[in-house]
Order: sequence, then C-alpha cells, then structure tokens
Amino acid sequence: MASSVAYSPEWVKSARQSKVNTLLMGGGFLSKERRKLLENVWDATCYNLFGMSEMFGPIAAECTFRDGMHYRNDYLFIEVIDPVTHKPTQNGEIGIAVYSSLWQKGFPLLRYWSDDFISINMETCKCGSSLPRLYFHGKMADHIYSQGVYVFPEHVENILFENGFIGDYKVKISNEKVEVLIESSKTNNTDTIVVQLTKLLSKRVEVIFLPYGALNYSSFGNRFEITQDWRK
Ligand SMILES: [Zn+2]
Repeated sequence: MASSVAYSPEWVKSARQSKVNTLLMGGGFLSKERRKLLENVWDATCYNLFGMSEMFGPIAAECTFRDGMHYRNDYLFIEVIDPVTHKPTQNGEIGIAVYSSLWQKGFPLLRYWSDDFISINMETCKCGSSLPRLYFHGKMADHIYSQGVYVFPEHVENILFENGFIGDYKVKISNEKVEVLIESSKTNNTDTIVVQLTKLLSKRVEVIFLPYGALNYSSFGNRFEITQDWRK
C-alpha cells in the first residue's frame, strides 16, 4: 500500500478502531521508523518476516526480541558474499545472500545468487535460540556504496519519517547531486532533513515536494534511481 494512503487520517482512524494486536510484515525492508509508525497507528506489535519464492516462501522470522530474523540453518545454507570481490564477508558484515537448500524435497537450489543484501548474526539470541539471525537491508538495484559504507532506502526513510515527512518518496542520484522527491505538503523542518540527508549521502541534496500520488509508487519498485556508479 502506498504510504500516502496507508497513513491518511481515514486509514489511521479505522486502524485505531480495529482489534488487531499483531502485525506480520514481509515483502521488503522494514525501516526502524516505519515499524515505530505502524505500531503507533495500529497500537500493535510488529514482527518482520523474510522469504523468497524460489526457496518455497517464508524462511526467516523474528522472535519476541525482534533483533534479526531466525532461520533454520540445518535446512538452509546462506553465504554472505561481497558483490565485487565475490569473497565471503566477515564478522556479520553486509553482503549478497547466496542460498543453498539442504533438504531433499522439491527442486534443490545450489549457491543461488539472490541480489538480496543481508547480514547474519551467529550469536545466541536473548530468546535462548542459537539459530542464526538474518537482517535484510535492501536489493542490489536499490543501494549505493559511498566511501566504504552501504546506503539503503531504509536509511533515507528513517530520516524522513523521523522528521515527520510521512509519504512516498524517491531518491534520484547522479554525479552532480541527489534529488529527494517526497509526496508531502509539509515544508517546514526541511533544513534539518537536507542536513541529515547530505551527511548520509555525501552529496548536495535537493528536496522537492510533490502532491500525494504524484510518484505513483509501486511497492515492487525501487526507491533509488541511480545514474552513476558509486563504486568508481
Ligand atoms: Zn531470538
């Protein structure tokens, strides 16, 4: 659902009146600020799930501590690979998820390159489970790598939502500048997000406000529109 619809006053009112107390999220990244907003609107606890159709569907889910999504590593072998060097990343660093299935049913996947950026925490969770925890950060086509740091739409979204700009958005990145298009009528507090986005993206940032619905955003679409190679 488009953010502009999902957080409209009418929608918030019906969410408030519902008896929903648990939200299960899936199908994309879940930013810290979007989770906070959804929990506030619904007065519910939000849990994140992760899956991929090629494997059979859901493969990982959060426990009550909600710090990473547990997965069965006796059924699924996940490597985290640097997209440039194709070497395994170390110590929980971000890389591309490469999947191999370890069960005997269905069609086996062997070192399946997914284009999913993830990281994995192998430490025992506070819930007592030693099953590894997976963090999904974003897709290959929807990231930049600047000065040794990955930047994903969730980072932009956290800044926008934290400053009260709740709506769909798109980030256009070129050699010269970054344009952040936001469906919002709010124009105060803009200086703060420009400063924070400039720090995040290390580029001159221009914020452009658009009417609700102007971006016609699809939940399957990318948030970043990139016309330069940030690795050069
Ligand atoms: Zn746990």
